Amino acid sequence: MNMRTRVGIIGAGPAGLMLSLLLSMEGIDSIVLENRDREGIESTIRAGVLEQGTVDLMTEIGLGERMKREGSVHHGIELRFDGEGHRIPLSELTNGRAITVYPQHEVIKDFIAARLNQGGPILFNVEDVQVSNISSSQPSLRFVHEHEQMELQCDFIAGCDGFHGISRASIPEAIQHGFSRSYPFGWLGILMQAPPSAEELIYTYHERGFALVSTRSPDLQRMYIQCDPQDDIANWSDPMIVEELQLRLATTNNWQLLVGPIIQKSILAMRSFVIEPMQYVRLFLAGDAAHIVPPTGAKGLNLAVADVRHLARALTMFYKQNRTDLLEAYSTTCLRRVWRAEHFSWWMTSMLHRFLDDDAFQQRMQRSQLDYTVSSRAAATSLAENYVGLPFTW
Ligand SMILES: Cc1cc2nc3c(=O)[nH]c(=O)nc-3n(C[C@H](O)[C@H](O)[C@H](O)COP(=O)(O)OP(=O)(O)OC[C@H]3O[C@@H](n4cnc5c(N)ncnc54)[C@H](O)[C@@H]3O)c2cc1C
Repeated sequence: MNMRTRVGIIGAGPAGLMLSLLLSMEGIDSIVLENRDREGIESTIRAGVLEQGTVDLMTEIGLGERMKREGSVHHGIELRFDGEGHRIPLSELTNGRAITVYPQHEVIKDFIAARLNQGGPILFNVEDVQVSNISSSQPSLRFVHEHEQMELQCDFIAGCDGFHGISRASIPEAIQHGFSRSYPFGWLGILMQAPPSAEELIYTYHERGFALVSTRSPDLQRMYIQCDPQDDIANWSDPMIVEELQLRLATTNNWQLLVGPIIQKSILAMRSFVIEPMQYVRLFLAGDAAHIVPPTGAKGLNLAVADVRHLARALTMFYKQNRTDLLEAYSTTCLRRVWRAEHFSWWMTSMLHRFLDDDAFQQRMQRSQLDYTVSSRAAATSLAENYVGLPFTW
């Protein structure tokens, strides 16, 4: 069966769904293809920290209500080391900007509901998506849906299918340049049924390794500890995880971690990756399909949203004013912000984790960096403005 749309979008993650919403507001039709089912993508636990710009955009397009009601706005974070906590007052240092903790799967639920309300097609459970005629002005997407072979003809294709998707590999190897860094550690992440132990996120540097106390809701907490990325989660019993958290988070004033049942645990590897350029003829990559950051800087979802904001604007200018300059500049425009986020995420990761080969010199360098960050207003401001997110014009 043949279908036609202006923009064919692969992937119903934050990038693909936000792009379809932004295009629809400009009267530009699109179809989203997703290889998982709706329930699966609405329940995958991932990000939680939304930058000010992401929150503002969601509010602007009418999706701020539930986020405002159920999310929590944080005006600071804590850096903890040597048993002491040090608050970085994000809002005070950034003219009132803040982060909002609102889980990614709730963002996804809001996006899907809004897109379906607009009558916009999202095809779930598609299989075997392939990009065809990529070098022409009429590319198409071939895929199987409900056992039927389909072809979707498009003016443009947006590859929003995450790091393991197919769109990045559709760009000829000869013009792709990949930049990557892997880290010799991973994060063991848990969801715990307990009240929050702190009002703000706690990033901890400890000789046993990094720990992060984050939250998802008043009775569900998200926490991470640095671990061996090859480790098997079965090696970590719940009491072991709690003990490790307590050891790393201990303070000289006896701060207490509030504990409860662990309802989910997993280990994730960490890497940095960027592909240049992020476009080829009429295929545009956005979000994790084009770049990955370690989660320490809480940037991945926010970068995905920033990419598609640029892409939606460029496509709008193309359809409304016949302008191609913004489309041509898409990769260059996005990469400026992408590399800033790559640097920030790498910097936070390097400052806060123990590296396998680090010696006493390296550890003193990390401590000096932490000390400077919490003592100097200029250094704290640099962290704060990157953490809450630079303006969209970056
Ligand atoms: C533990 C963890 C914590 C994180 N914390 C934060 C945070 O606090 N803040 C932050 O900003 N980011 C965070 N991130 C990163 C964030 O989750 C990702 O960067 C974000 O999901 C990227 O969105 P995306 O739309 O580009 O890709 P994805 O969310 O990966 O979406 C891609 C979609 O495409 C679909 N797909 C894949 N292949 C195909 C195919 N062949 N055909 C059709 N569909 C396909 C997938 O099923 C998926 O639904 C975190 C990530 C992790 C793992």
